[in-house]
Amino acid sequence: MLGQALMLIHTGRAPTRSVLTSALGVTRATAGATVSELQELGLIQVDEAARLSPGQQGRPSHRLSVDPAGPVALAAQLHPDGFEVAVIGLGARIIAAQSSTQAIAGDPASAMAEIAGVAARLVAGAGRPCVGAGLAVPSAVTSLDGTMVAPYYRLGWPTGTPVRDLFAGKLRLAGITGPGGRGLRCSAGNDINLAALAEHRHGAGRGSSHLLMVATGHGGVGGALVLGGALYAGSTGLGMEAGHVSVDTAGLPCQCGSRGCLSVEADAARFLALAGRVAEPGIPELAQAIAVLRRDYPGDAAVRAAAATLIERLGLGLADLVNVINPDRVVLGGLHRDLLDADPVGLRAALADRSPWGRGANVPLVAAALEQSPLIGAAEIAWQPVLDDPALAAGGR
Ligand SMILES: [Zn+2]
Repeated sequence: MLGQALMLIHTGRAPTRSVLTSALGVTRATAGATVSELQELGLIQVDEAARLSPGQQGRPSHRLSVDPAGPVALAAQLHPDGFEVAVIGLGARIIAAQSSTQAIAGDPASAMAEIAGVAARLVAGAGRPCVGAGLAVPSAVTSLDGTMVAPYYRLGWPTGTPVRDLFAGKLRLAGITGPGGRGLRCSAGNDINLAALAEHRHGAGRGSSHLLMVATGHGGVGGALVLGGALYAGSTGLGMEAGHVSVDTAGLPCQCGSRGCLSVEADAARFLALAGRVAEPGIPELAQAIAVLRRDYPGDAAVRAAAATLIERLGLGLADLVNVINPDRVVLGGLHRDLLDADPVGLRAALADRSPWGRGANVPLVAAALEQSPLIGAAEIAWQPVLDDPALAAGGR
């Protein structure tokens, strides 16, 4: 119950004590005791002076929000164009962040040491307890031991790199500890999986029960499924590799061994190539592709043709996924968000044309709402043990 209450406040679904009381289905006294306990743990604050807005009836209810001086989680995202590190409070509040656009070291241990150094400075600067750490990586990650499955081609790291344990070890060496001075709990996940979790809790996926997310990353395409609020992971954490749905068996070869996967036919690099643009060195391809689409789509025939080709291929892939999964919402991120903005009718038609019984056309296709969703998702997995058992924030268990 304590964890359930904290999750409702964390995700903004219980802004007052009366909403919390009805969401939990308990008495006012029980909800009051729960709120007091979370307040004593330093996780939330209660504004007892809150009053009803004009026109509302009934008793005023205490306003609930996350404690702005409460603990933080450490989040990091690693991608081929650099890394981001942030300390993030409950409610997905980014307290402080730092990014690097330097190429990631080919040696995983050196890269993790650099990230840990930045993390240590941010955590010390925040001056607040750190409950845990989460890392988003551009590769499938096994749920059992936190190793990277794919030899991510633009990082050059070997298959089986134990990213979670490397990250944990470097954070320990950097002197970052968890509640009560204990070792910091660390988790790692695929960047698009974590983006989907963040969108479900704080963005365009709120309220969805079967949320499918498809998005371009810094390279390639990823997908994720959030079922009943939990990430679908498959039997070992490797489920929902939507980027490897093939949409053209005669298409480009993919690193997975297949041809014509969404990852090579509907990503930022493919869009730039089809539009006849040469990517400028030193600027992430994803950012360049989004800028070209936004700026030149209205008046550049080559850009419109490239967007139409990607929309057709993305529509093919989405139709396969929607027909198999039957989601109640599809969130599109990265370049795909901008393709939806550029031609919403075209993308919906590309999906609907391949939908049996016309049902796929009814699935809402919506744009991702969060700017740094993998980073926020990394904070979510860092917060998860405390969301499950808020007493952990005090370091007592
Ligand atoms: Zn593939």
